[in-house]
Amino acid sequence: MELFDSLHETGHEQVVFFSCEDTGLKAIVAIHDTTLGPALGGLRMWPYHNEQEALTDVLRLSRGMTYKAAVSGLNLGGGKAVLIGDPETDKSESLFRAFGRYVGSLGGRYITAEDVGTTVEDMDYIYQETDRVVGVHRVHGGSGDPSPFTAYGTLQGMKACLEKKYGNPDPGKLSFSVQGVGHVGYYLTKYLREAGAKVFVCDINESRVERAVDELGAEAVSMEQIYDVDANVFAPCALGGVINEDTVPHLKCDIVAGSANNQLESEDWGTVLEERGILYAPDYAINAGGLMNVAIELQGYDRDRAYRTVSTIYDIIGKIFKIAERDGIPSWQAADRLAEERIQAISHTRRFYSKRFKDRLSGRRPHTTATNS
Ligand code: NAD
Repeated sequence: MELFDSLHETGHEQVVFFSCEDTGLKAIVAIHDTTLGPALGGLRMWPYHNEQEALTDVLRLSRGMTYKAAVSGLNLGGGKAVLIGDPETDKSESLFRAFGRYVGSLGGRYITAEDVGTTVEDMDYIYQETDRVVGVHRVHGGSGDPSPFTAYGTLQGMKACLEKKYGNPDPGKLSFSVQGVGHVGYYLTKYLREAGAKVFVCDINESRVERAVDELGAEAVSMEQIYDVDANVFAPCALGGVINEDTVPHLKCDIVAGSANNQLESEDWGTVLEERGILYAPDYAINAGGLMNVAIELQGYDRDRAYRTVSTIYDIIGKIFKIAERDGIPSWQAADRLAEERIQAISHTRRFYSKRFKDRLSGRRPHTTATNS
């Protein structure tokens, strides 16, 4: 009963537990909302301490995917899967093929993809059993590494922020501080440097900092200094929760716009940014380039089309700022509103059409007419 209560509260449609003794598979698939289309979301493999922790994670993540797909204008719903196990020691072909068979059994309601702890190779095993998987290898029509697309989308979102703040989207004469120059941060720094911008970078991994300095001409700062850098834009591209009580008082930037997930330690910090006059690009909207890119695989992958789709993030971030202004709310809340309004509008049209369909059917049924009764 408690479980159903919590599913009602979060609005989840379906949660499926998959178990296979032979392969050791213990997985949970959560389908949050399929109003806009089949639920798409990655498969996370993690050594969860217990089943409750795995369930909490999959419920939280799948709901987030509904919002991300909805603001991105995709005809996809939100879902996610978790696989309980250690990605370093517990992987096997049979494990992922078993998971693939289970995903196939959902009849297309859920489409899986890569996430923390899983790789393109794992997706290829899943692909042996079902075509309800994206992010597979290029030889199977996959799209490869999503990071350049996520970075490109983040750049588009940054430009929308610059337009809003300075009336000019050109990053060329401005300065940026990028926290984390891993997969996404590296490409973002590259795009910004190519545009002529000054870029400060930090990373816990020294060799990644060196690469950004040597190859891209970025300027290194320490991990502690990154919040104090006097740059126009702060771009979190490493960890979640970095906008918090300890960091906000240090920020000298006008804009926070980066690829990291869950940047706000809590939503209140988005409101605090607003009050301090710092423009915030909601994370799940600005970092949706990777999702948009894999979604193209479902229609037959086309790289140019993927870039064109990802560039719509400029308009999406602009739309979020307009809703924020229209309703007098902070941008994090405006992003949620954009997603909810779209889902609501589509569910209304669906209800309208299914009612019309039912009316037509009932009108045709002979036993509903007086003469037949
Ligand atoms: P990554 O692991 O390749 O890069 C993260 C980098 O951050 C690493 O180089 C790491 O050493 C560094 N780092 C870790 N802790 C740090 C700290 N305290 N200070 C500074 N640097 C630190 O990951 P990624 O794929 O580049 O993703 C970056 C962020 O963007 C993550 O939050 C991820 O969830 C999010 N994201 C990524 C994608 C994608 O397509 N890869 C899509 C959407 C969201």
